[in-house]
Amino acid sequence: MVFPMRCVSCGKDMNSREKTAVCGFCMSKIRLNPKPYCVSCGRSVDKIKKRCRQCENIAFHFKSAHAACLYEGTIKDLLHAFKYKSNLSFADILSKLMIDFVKDNRETLRGLDMITSVPLGRRRLNSRGFNQSKLLADRLSEEFSIPYVELLNKRRHTGYQSELPKLRRLSNLSNAFEALDASAAKDKRVLLIDDVMTTGATLNECSRTLLASGAREVRCLVLARGA
Ligand SMILES: [Zn+2]
Ligand SMILES: [Zn+2]
Repeated sequence: MVFPMRCVSCGKDMNSREKTAVCGFCMSKIRLNPKPYCVSCGRSVDKIKKRCRQCENIAFHFKSAHAACLYEGTIKDLLHAFKYKSNLSFADILSKLMIDFVKDNRETLRGLDMITSVPLGRRRLNSRGFNQSKLLADRLSEEFSIPYVELLNKRRHTGYQSELPKLRRLSNLSNAFEALDASAAKDKRVLLIDDVMTTGATLNECSRTLLASGAREVRCLVLARGA
């Protein structure tokens, strides 16, 4: 693996023997998503077994969603370098945070049949060369011996969700995804992986598509939760 000589978060020069992309100080600043979580969307809440206020009146298609970290600081820098500078070694650092989260929250994986990931559109996949969410999902699949199955295809380019007002994010995605193989998810419990969750619109639309193709249940796990 090739690591940068400077910390990707603060830019500090690092000793070449430090086999990591982030300095110890920036690594120590990563905030895990604090327990307990909203039972619906995985946001940190103050009381156990509660829904957060933001999703009190939303019926998501997924059964639950969990996030390992908060989308801020070091995580934002790491993810940005991973996605836009194509430093694939970051997949190990980032997936480790997700693996540690699962080890601490075993119910996330209970009874699952397969793992899949949110697909990129062809245009973005071609320009980036890889799907960051699939790389994270591959590591989880390997670690927990749950098969990774490619289940979804993105049918059209939808632009960046983060650039749209929250209310338009859902309609922007309508019918943006399709099942690759109509029977692959039939009666299966599926874990859907993505890098970042904010409103949950992307995960929701992917979950709807998976359920429509016969999946029994969809749960979501992301690296980081936006506010
Ligand atoms: Zn640093
Ligand atoms: Zn919630």
